[in-house]
Amino acid sequence: MGQINRLSSDAINQIAAGEVIERPAAALKEIVENALDASSKTINIWCEDGGLSRILVEDDGIGISKEDLPIAILRHATSKLRPDENGAIDLTNIISLGFRGEALPSIGAVARLKITSKTDNDNNAWEIEVNGGQISEVRPAPWASLNSGTRIEIRDLFFATPARLKFMKSQRSEALAISDTIKRLALSRPDVSFSLTIDGKSNFKANAKQGEIEELRLERARTILGNDLAQDCLFINAERAELKLFGLASLPIASRADSRHQYLFVNGRPVKDPMLKGVARAAYQEVLAKDRHPVLALFLEVPPSFVDVNVHPAKTEIRFRDAALVRGLIIGALRHAIGNIEIRPSVSLSSQTLGALASNIPNNNVYQRDYSHQSDFGERSFIAQNPRFYEGGFKEAQNFTFDSPAAKPIEEIIETQDEPNYPLGAAKAQIHNTYIVAQTENGIAIIDQHAAHERLVLEKMKSAFENKNIARQPLLIPDIIELEPNDCERLLERANEFEEFGLVIESFGHGAILVRETPAILGKTNAKNLLQDLADEIATFDKGMRLKERIDEVLASMACHGSVRAGRQLSGFEMNALLRDMEQTPRSGQCNHGRPTFIMLSLDDVEKLFGRK
Ligand code: ADP
Ligand code: MG
Repeated sequence: MGQINRLSSDAINQIAAGEVIERPAAALKEIVENALDASSKTINIWCEDGGLSRILVEDDGIGISKEDLPIAILRHATSKLRPDENGAIDLTNIISLGFRGEALPSIGAVARLKITSKTDNDNNAWEIEVNGGQISEVRPAPWASLNSGTRIEIRDLFFATPARLKFMKSQRSEALAISDTIKRLALSRPDVSFSLTIDGKSNFKANAKQGEIEELRLERARTILGNDLAQDCLFINAERAELKLFGLASLPIASRADSRHQYLFVNGRPVKDPMLKGVARAAYQEVLAKDRHPVLALFLEVPPSFVDVNVHPAKTEIRFRDAALVRGLIIGALRHAIGNIEIRPSVSLSSQTLGALASNIPNNNVYQRDYSHQSDFGERSFIAQNPRFYEGGFKEAQNFTFDSPAAKPIEEIIETQDEPNYPLGAAKAQIHNTYIVAQTENGIAIIDQHAAHERLVLEKMKSAFENKNIARQPLLIPDIIELEPNDCERLLERANEFEEFGLVIESFGHGAILVRETPAILGKTNAKNLLQDLADEIATFDKGMRLKERIDEVLASMACHGSVRAGRQLSGFEMNALLRDMEQTPRSGQCNHGRPTFIMLSLDDVEKLFGRK
């Protein structure tokens, strides 16, 4: 007897379901794509318990006829590919979202699926059910309206594949994924009305508008992407060969901590393109830190034969005939838009000077020397225990503040420093409230105060965290922060973990969070910005991942909010304290974004610059 069996069609469908619908959001995506392919103008969606117990989608599309109902739920049955007279099909010109004929049988194999539909040619509506692969008769069904349309109900998703059910994340995460998926689809089709209700609460609604498609897309992008793109954004409009690119991109200042707000649509199909993140980074390279990402909504129109949409069972990835052309088009268009933001001061002399400076950026090992022999300067240990000192809470420092907004001479400080041979020297001045200029033994050091302080805060938070010693500060009046409901969910899901980091938050109803305590080391911080960055950050984590496993990212996001912002006036005492602290702290030669925190210029270099040598 042979060892090889042919699988039953039930087994085949369950296996296919594994790829096509890995979670509720994926099942819903297939159903909504079908509604769009059926020329629907309004699509209403309801989900319960993260889509696991119930998903309901109603559309007003062309409907499915009584004869077609039992065929629609068969595997590899589709109305979207038409064989020619020889039975051949053309996979190079796909204009519908679906074409594989796999979604309905896959869902029917693992859930309880009920399809009710009415076409214009029939006065009655009909329904069919598939329960874990068991197909019912076609029966007449009640239908409230005279118009055509389809209602798809999915109950108990994955009841027939308990192993898959075990892999589901919390209902909250699944609901988030559903909301993200529907927003993506709604972005792609502003001519269609969408509504999404999750557990009885309206999650999101967008009404169809009439007009020029490009105008409509801009408007919908604003509705869905919110403030980031509402006012300050760049318009993208470019063409190359047969490709047309159109859309919105955020200004560098409106960047986010993750790339999840980058949407690409190719011929109206939302696609996940791993190249997009890199392309965006390349385009924004000069204006954004390495770990910041612009918000993008880009619509690419190409001839259908330019893309292969048949590379992924869930159709979320595609392949371009000429990926380099696409990449070039996007980078070029973004750069062009960024370049037009403002006229950049371009003075050749300053670039020469910068060139000389750049070649002197110290590499880190300068600071791997051991400074432990240095006498313990009283103020240094004070700062180490009182990092909030930089927030200006240190009374003695008042003696050293100067009122003049211009560069301040701080001779007084020099007198108090009996040991001038510190590696970073003695602070001489603060310029533009941003940089500290210090005199070193044989040159000049220029320190970026914000970058340097941010690094110090991060290193301190890290060691405090390792020693389970993060101090919290209760807020006298708890802060109520409004955020996008999805972001609130993300944060609340991890409230217990945040507590270990010194951040205590609670739910404050739909779309709001109550902040009770913040990490003391951050001093007075803008809680809203902090929470937004953390929400962005954790959105990129694997859902099961503990914050501790991404401790560097989490702490870096926090540290950034506790730093002396560029633009704060420091006293001479504060400046010197900062320098001494840097000398004591590992890795303080670069900020959390990888930029240098200081540059050193020897007197030799200065003399060369002036042509003295
Ligand atoms: P595909 O979308 O790849 O064709 P599906 O399994 O998703 O495969 O759907 C099978 C067929 O059922 C579709 O080709 C379409 O003819 C029909 N169908 C599914 N959903 C709808 C709908 N909401 N309105 C009209 N027809 C639908
Ligand atoms: Mg389909």
